[in-house]
Amino acid sequence: MHSSITISNEAVRRCRKGELWLEKKNVVGRKPNIPQIVHLIDKKKNFIAMALLSPASRYYLRIFSLLKKDVTMELWKEKILAAYKKRAPLSKITNAFRVVHAESDGIPGVVIDKYNDVWAMQITCGGAEGIKGQLAEIISGEFSPAAIIEKNKIAIRESEGLPLVEGLLYGEKEKTVISEGGELFEVDVRTGQKTGAYLDYRAFRLKAREFARGLALDAFSYQGWFACQIANSANRVIAVDSSALAIKMAEDNAKRNNHGNIEFIRADVFDFLKNCELKFDFIHLDPPSFAKGGGMLGAAVFGYKKMITDALRLVAADGILMVSSCSHAITEGVIERTVESCAKESGAECEFVYRGIQDTDHPVLRGHPESLYLKALAVRVVR
Ligand code: SAH
Repeated sequence: MHSSITISNEAVRRCRKGELWLEKKNVVGRKPNIPQIVHLIDKKKNFIAMALLSPASRYYLRIFSLLKKDVTMELWKEKILAAYKKRAPLSKITNAFRVVHAESDGIPGVVIDKYNDVWAMQITCGGAEGIKGQLAEIISGEFSPAAIIEKNKIAIRESEGLPLVEGLLYGEKEKTVISEGGELFEVDVRTGQKTGAYLDYRAFRLKAREFARGLALDAFSYQGWFACQIANSANRVIAVDSSALAIKMAEDNAKRNNHGNIEFIRADVFDFLKNCELKFDFIHLDPPSFAKGGGMLGAAVFGYKKMITDALRLVAADGILMVSSCSHAITEGVIERTVESCAKESGAECEFVYRGIQDTDHPVLRGHPESLYLKALAVRVVR
């Protein structure tokens, strides 16, 4: 039996609107400090929702169901199978996708990604840590992967009071090869960024492949997934990244897919853009998150402005500039206004040709704006 936590009338109203995160100050009365699954009730003891309680977290309560249920392993299994089923259309183009996107799939603080036969799991709230073993058991029982790796060496866990750990939860394998739109990419799930790779950009990569032609530039290319996709439609691709390791992996990926038309350059993208004399028919920019919190927004916009101004100078007439952004602070509106003002200042005339968000395996929840974090925008530079 789960214990009951009483929440304020205002918090009840927010829950009814679809909000999923509550703070300790929204609780009236008893506030336990042990991670657990709880029932949320109003002051008249009416049931409101089920939530995970994470004592050390800013978000003390994370709602995962509006129905009163006994939470057993069966419930998590149902949620994982339902989430997996929703991704079925993606399996036509890839064998690597996010199976569970935390709140969006009804398991707060839990991310489960499948990279072909190697699965990754990341837990970002205290309340979900207790179900880690059950989730691993469900995955191994239902999907028979070669391995499950926990990717729990991330800063957010510190503020939740959770240990930073990484490694095998099940099986033996760490590296695998995935396919995406006909391209093959190696993923080292244990050492790769995020849970192994940038799955959420998939739709942008395929869009970039559609846009690219002639001479193309992929800036911040990491392991070359964009570069390989666009190498199918461009004559020649230049890929720039500052990390030697990322370039090495990218070169291996290019070889794996028989792309002889990609040139990898290890450089700082800002320097590259400033000094480059070429004209590109397609440019993709995917800078790392400059803006961590709202306070950094000014600096981040400044960085974007500089980068976009330099990139616009390098776009050939009728060429396309595509910008992706993974930082929360840089909203779609910020990118759009930045592109507009840079274009105006440099006398370029642009038309917007694409607006995108994270791919469908990272669904955005109504009432939970935090679940929308990745966006891309593309403009055609008319002259
Ligand atoms: N678009 C990629 C992910 C990019 S990750 C994909 O879909 O897979 C960001 C990359 O930017 C990393 O590889 C990092 O090495 C690189 N990077 C960060 N700052 C850089 C800079 N100033 N110049 C060049 N590369 C940079």
